[in-house]
Amino acid sequence: MSFTSLGLAPALLKALETEGYSQPTPIQKQAIPAVIAKKDVLGIAKTGSGKTAGYVLPILHNFQTAPPSQYREPTVLVLVPTRELAGQVRQVFQTFIPSLTNRPICLAVSGGVSINPQMQAIGKVNILVATPGRLLELIEKNAVRLSSISTLVLDEADKMLNLGFREEVDRILALLPTARQNLLFSATLGEDVGLIRQLILNDPQVIKIAEEPEATDPINQLGYLVSEEKKGPLLRYLIKHGDLKQVLVFASSTLKVDGIVNKLLKNRIHAAAIHSKLGQQARNFTLQQFKSGQLRVLVATDLLARGIDIEFLPCVINYELPRSPKDYLHRIGRTGRAESPGDAISLISPEEMDHFKVIQKKMGTRVKILSGDQLDLQGY
Ligand code: AMP
Repeated sequence: MSFTSLGLAPALLKALETEGYSQPTPIQKQAIPAVIAKKDVLGIAKTGSGKTAGYVLPILHNFQTAPPSQYREPTVLVLVPTRELAGQVRQVFQTFIPSLTNRPICLAVSGGVSINPQMQAIGKVNILVATPGRLLELIEKNAVRLSSISTLVLDEADKMLNLGFREEVDRILALLPTARQNLLFSATLGEDVGLIRQLILNDPQVIKIAEEPEATDPINQLGYLVSEEKKGPLLRYLIKHGDLKQVLVFASSTLKVDGIVNKLLKNRIHAAAIHSKLGQQARNFTLQQFKSGQLRVLVATDLLARGIDIEFLPCVINYELPRSPKDYLHRIGRTGRAESPGDAISLISPEEMDHFKVIQKKMGTRVKILSGDQLDLQGY
């Protein structure tokens, strides 16, 4: 099936060709006609499935057929959990907007940078991509009103709720017109997402791309049972011995992330941190270096790693296990995408072993576990 049969405006079809998108992904095949038809959509799909273009393209199509100039307030609101994702979503909009004759204005707003330029820019915006906290700040400052929103997108809804944005999301929902189109995208359909689904979706088209266990298929999972104090040497052993060139390491806190990076640097392994305590510019720079292969190891907390979109990330290492099986899936889902198998390695302390058993049970897979303490880690 090509994009032509999905009902998109010719201008968008042309832009898709220029971008080299020859075939719609499974989620796009279903989401695009549904969004054009103004239906509500529940998309269970993770990053890498093409879900962003799955809603961006039909939203732009709808602008093409109903010119944006008649609105003085944003009519489309995309809520996302992180600054990085806000930037990426806006980027996808910007890729396709120039091809249109009726060009809506798209702006991404998120915290961590000065609010003033955002306050100035927000006046003439048609499509607003926002993290919940900064959006509420802008509303409190009377910089924007949501009373003309006709399409709401909640992207990575599971992450948004896991991160404790529930209250903010509720406050935002209360400010929207009740008659509107709702598009909910989530990697998983947990209890929280189920609740939001009931709250906002009206007879939605449900699109489920893959069962969660299937989603992990192209990933070689491996665990090392290792004492806490040997995790550092084991990490360096895995990187050096395995000659790993591009590794994403997860840790639980910003403190831990910084500690791991310092140790790696001391051992002459090029590494950098990405977490919420760093400024936006530093984060963008680090992410860019990592994406382009100039940075060997990126150490991140869950929150910040969510927005990292790299097609062929070969290896993910869990320095510590995440709290929930859902987060484990999100973390390892960073690797092995696009038919290129990747490695997901977990360093598991004896105290974490029971928790890892729970994670495996939830995923319905058994992960091979090797003894890290028996490796000769001298010199690492
Ligand atoms: P997403 O799941 O939205 O984060 O998209 C993952 C990646 O797939 C992005 O880099 C997109 O540019 C790319 N992509 C999305 N749709 C298509 C398509 N139909 N053909 C080729 N690449 C695509």
